[in-house]
Amino acid sequence: MNAPVPYDHEIELSNVLERCNAAARENAIPSQDELPEGFSGTLGHFPVYFPEEIAHAAGLLPVNILGGGNKLEMKHADARMGSFVCSICRSTTELGLNGTLQGMTGFVTHPICDAAKHLAGIWSRNLPDQLAQILYLPQNVNTPGAARYIAAEYQRLRADLEKKTGRAIDDEALRNSIRSYNVNRRLLRELYRIRRDEPWKVSCTESYLLLRARTRMPCEEHNALLARALDAIRHRSLPAQDKPRVVFVGGFCEQPPLEMLEAIDEACYVVDDDILVGLRWLTDDVPETGDPIWALAESYVERSDASPVQHDARKMKEDYLMDMLKKSKADAAILTAAKFCEPGLDEQLAWSKHLDAENIPYLVLEFEEKMTSFEQMAMQVETFAESLLFALA
Ligand code: SF4
Repeated sequence: MNAPVPYDHEIELSNVLERCNAAARENAIPSQDELPEGFSGTLGHFPVYFPEEIAHAAGLLPVNILGGGNKLEMKHADARMGSFVCSICRSTTELGLNGTLQGMTGFVTHPICDAAKHLAGIWSRNLPDQLAQILYLPQNVNTPGAARYIAAEYQRLRADLEKKTGRAIDDEALRNSIRSYNVNRRLLRELYRIRRDEPWKVSCTESYLLLRARTRMPCEEHNALLARALDAIRHRSLPAQDKPRVVFVGGFCEQPPLEMLEAIDEACYVVDDDILVGLRWLTDDVPETGDPIWALAESYVERSDASPVQHDARKMKEDYLMDMLKKSKADAAILTAAKFCEPGLDEQLAWSKHLDAENIPYLVLEFEEKMTSFEQMAMQVETFAESLLFALA
């Protein structure tokens, strides 16, 4: 009789990452026949933050639309948009126009910048079967009426989804969705805790793939994958290497290519980042009792992260970067921005001025989702890491 094969954590983690990698590279949405059990359609949403719980409770699979990556051939969108518009807007439009996102029930975008604001209009004109919406999150969350305003916007979205799907979204369904997403929030917090405390156990690229998988699968399936991955990561016995600790900022909307993250991982430990921050926007559990819409709205105001597209006097741009550096005990920062991203470039300037004043080392990088060459960037990162190690020695 064959001896039982011992459980191998590396094999387990590599199986999970393979599944996540496939999900991360997928531009298409599941067809009607491929939808997971319990879902009748898909709801696309654009970065940064979207309350997925509302779509989930409506039986719509929330799909975070993050552009087309560096393999997409642009045939239609370039004829309709200026060449000065960022890549994620252009390639998302291409995916709509070339039929890849044709089967979605709806698409929701946000007025995070001029480019993103106009996507809903392009969508409704070119894909009239889909519900095309702008979800207006408050520009200023520091007013007493902010939570009330967000709750009203969420109720409007809830009513529109009910009308489109013909299915009522009751409070209990919303609370069940909040419960599933609370489990997800806890698992993601643990993933980021390991990144800060034992960065040699999980790289930024691996963490990114684990997080991004939620853009193409139900929260419950993602929870199961994360739980398996975290167990395997905790059991990993990799030695700590001599690498500087850095935080990575600028990945809140358009996504940095995987090859760029791999190049940074080679030379540094990325102990915190803002990549896909919208998927972990609420920083604590959302109350599971009481009015679920109010619970989501109040969490947005009181327990949420920061990004260049949200203005909150309690989270000034310089302060939240300093907070990230301090909490993760980072030696330096990598300040990135997507090409043509106005909010990202504004923030980059403010951050670099502040870090100069504080005498904290940083590296500025620009990226674009359709980049294909990374040698020069890898050399820049390597040189930066070496100078940090030299200064720290
Ligand atoms: S990458 Fe920047 S400019 Fe482009 S949609 Fe996002 S926030 Fe707007």
